[in-house]
Order: sequence, then structure tokens, then C-alpha cells
Amino acid sequence: MPQTNKPETKSIKHFSVKELCQTLQISPLESGVLTQSEFPLKIPADFLAQIEIGNPLDPLLKQVLPVLAETDQVTGYTLDPVGDLNNNPTPSLIHKYHGRVLLIASPKCDIHCRYCFRRHFPYEQQINQRHWHKALELIALDESIHEVILSGGDPMSLSEKALVNLIEKIEHIPHIRTLRIHSRTPVVAPSKAPNKLLLEWAKKSRLNKVLVVHCNHANELSEQTAQLLQQYRTAGFQLLNQTVLLKDVNDNADVLIDLSHVLFNQGVLPYYLHQLDKVQGASHFEVPDLEALELHEEMRQKLPGYLLPRLVREIEGQPYKTPL
Ligand SMILES: *Cc1c(COP(=O)(O)O)cnc(C)c1O
Ligand code: SF4
Repeated sequence: MPQTNKPETKSIKHFSVKELCQTLQISPLESGVLTQSEFPLKIPADFLAQIEIGNPLDPLLKQVLPVLAETDQVTGYTLDPVGDLNNNPTPSLIHKYHGRVLLIASPKCDIHCRYCFRRHFPYEQQINQRHWHKALELIALDESIHEVILSGGDPMSLSEKALVNLIEKIEHIPHIRTLRIHSRTPVVAPSKAPNKLLLEWAKKSRLNKVLVVHCNHANELSEQTAQLLQQYRTAGFQLLNQTVLLKDVNDNADVLIDLSHVLFNQGVLPYYLHQLDKVQGASHFEVPDLEALELHEEMRQKLPGYLLPRLVREIEGQPYKTPL
């Protein structure tokens, strides 16, 4: 895969769980950490800087620290909860919804979120340039597709050059009207996010451009994310956010309301609030549906309509994200 064009020193890629605990001055024993995992700890420096020192309950830390609860075997929690591995016409393409396709643009992410439904996917084997070529051919043949969504992994973990290269190929397909990028990079690693070629491309592109970031807590947002998001907006991207509802991270109406306001301050509209996908290893993040609905109702009472995200769950076989 293409390498990132930014120096590796800007993100901490191979930080051991022990080192993380030392840096944050928390006790591994009390926090129930898991020192070995097939989905290893990965935390970018920018995200680390937003975590409170000495607080084992920090809502950002909870999202990245591997814990023993991940080894629990819980009924209903599976390896591929949304059935993505069964909907691929070609290895990097997922066509489940009308008019839009999802293209897995990168096998990697800048962060490893413990609740991620893709934590068991065989990415590295799954994607290469040959797959992209095939995927683009299929998209070009199907005129019912008008939107291409770049997802991953994280498309912004590609080098900016590789990313823009791919986007320009998509732009050449006449029936494509909208390019959408799903990325957590601008929030968790703003200093690594694409900010040159992509912006130059966007300013002159004929396509509608949407950037859906992924932010779960207002503490993830900073002056740095504000500046970066402003650049994307100026270049013509519509900015939306998706959040995953997570126990002990954001399962609190005040936290979610605050998140909506801070996102809006940074030019981003809340789009989806997702119920957790039931992936093996993530059961400790589950918020029961009834509680989720109560939280959403409280948000509805206190937020303007345009700051209320849609509460949804992905159900295998459904042609859209299903409202709760
Ligand atoms: C979520 C998702 C989309 C996008 O759905 P929207 O409701 O348009 O945001 C598209 N394809 C797949 C496979 C998805 O999982
Ligand atoms: S950034 Fe997204 S795809 Fe990557 S680990 Fe986190 S939730 Fe999963």
C-alpha cells in the first residue's frame, strides 16, 4: 500500500499498552487492561493529547485502551455483524444501498477504536490497486450509481497523492455526481490529515463533496480540528458527523447535546447516532435500545432540529440504516 507522505513521528503507531498507561499515569491493573490483542492498540499523538492524565475513566481513553472485557464471549456478538463480507461484488466494493456504493479505499486507520465492527476483517489481504481498478470498472458500468463513498479502514490514512489519484478516477465517471469521504482522521489526527492536494482538487471539482467525520465526544475536538475542518468547508465540502453510542463514553444526554453544539461551532452537522454493531469483543460498550431512545428523546427536547442526529442501527439485509 502507498505510504503516508507525512513523517511517522507525528503519530504514535507502536505504543505498548504499558507505555500508554505510564504516559497517562494510570494503573493497568485497576483499569483491567489487555496487553495482547490481534487488534492492537493504536493511538495517534493528537488524540492522546486530548486525554486527561490520571483519569482511567476518560471517555477518549475508553475508546482505545484494550481491556479484558474484550475477551468475553457474548451471545449475539459475531465477527461480521453487518454482513459486509457477503455483499462484495469485488473485494473492495460494497453495494448495499440504492444509488451509492462504498469503496474500501484503505486497509488502515490512524486509530484503532475498540468498538469497531471491522476489527476482525482481513483488510490487508482484501485491498490492492487491482481491486480498485475492478471496482471502478463496475461503477462505470452501472448508471444507477451516482454517489461513491470512500471508506475503510480510513481513506485519509492513504497518502494524499494516492487519495486524490483515486478521487480523480471517480470524477471521470460521468454519472457520478457526489463524492463522499468517511473518515475519522480529521478528528483524531488533524496534523496528519490531507490538507493540500485534496483541497486543491475540491476547489475545482464538478462533484458534490461530502466529508463525514466520526467524533464521539466533544473532548475530541480542539482548535486544531476547528482550523482543519474550516479548510475543508472553504474548499467546498459539506461536513457531517457520525457518532457511535458507547457505554461509559457518551451514553449521557448532556454529553451528546454538548457534542452537537461543539460540532456546529466547528461547522459540522450531526448526521447519525449509531447503535453499536454487535461485533465480538465490543459487548461492554452496549447501550440498551430503550436507554438509547430515552437519550435521543432528551436530545430532541433540548436541541434545534438541525443538531439532532438520526438514531439508527445497521441491520443486515436492510436497504438503509434503520431508525430505532
Ligand atoms: C452506511 C452505508 C452507506 C451510506 O448510507 P447513508 O444512509 O447514505 O449515509 C452506504 N453503503 C453502505 C454499505 C453503508 O454501510
Ligand atoms: S476509525 Fe472507523 S474504521 Fe477505523 S477503527 Fe475506528 S471505527 Fe473502525
